Amino acid sequence: MIAVNNVYCVGRNYKKHAEELGNDVPSEPMIFLKPSHAICALDDGTIALPQNAGEVHFETELVLRIGRAYEPGIKVKDIVASVALGIDFTLRDVQSKIKAKGHPWTAAKGFLNSAPLTQEVEFPGLDALNEAWFSLRKNGEVVQRGSITNIIFDLQTLIDYIGEHYGLGEGDLIYTGTPEGVGPTVAGDVLELYWNEEKWGGCTVG
Ligand code: ZN
Repeated sequence: MIAVNNVYCVGRNYKKHAEELGNDVPSEPMIFLKPSHAICALDDGTIALPQNAGEVHFETELVLRIGRAYEPGIKVKDIVASVALGIDFTLRDVQSKIKAKGHPWTAAKGFLNSAPLTQEVEFPGLDALNEAWFSLRKNGEVVQRGSITNIIFDLQTLIDYIGEHYGLGEGDLIYTGTPEGVGPTVAGDVLELYWNEEKWGGCTVG
């Protein structure tokens, strides 16, 4: 069991991903939440995802774990305890319907197991994060590859924005947004998340 408090997610934080879904690039961070029950481990086990609810998309993201309470002026290196990779699973057809109706995103983004997480590593410093690539392999093929040098709102901006508007404290997670290349996954797919050439976690979709 992974102990988690609030699970913040950032929408449309990579220009090419916003464009691939036909969305405008936001002028301020777009934050939504998932229930803590969405969290599960990418430990090479099977992860059950909704069936018969249209397409389930993967969104591969850098995840920050917060280690202490936010206070104005606090730096990323002082508030982020560790990083991991996660998948922001999304029911894309459901999302399209509820976006059209102006309804909240919970049904599309907050379902059980919608926020799996790899192992965590101690915060390696911003330079190391900027130099790294993270990727998702589906059935052995690289389908997403991202660098946080391409994010629209950088980590300091996200932490300040979330901390000031919603609060940020120990045990909170931030899913920092997905690069382009999102796509569908179906039962039986093997998903593996890599940090550079190092595998940090994976699952079989059930
Ligand atoms: Zn996302």
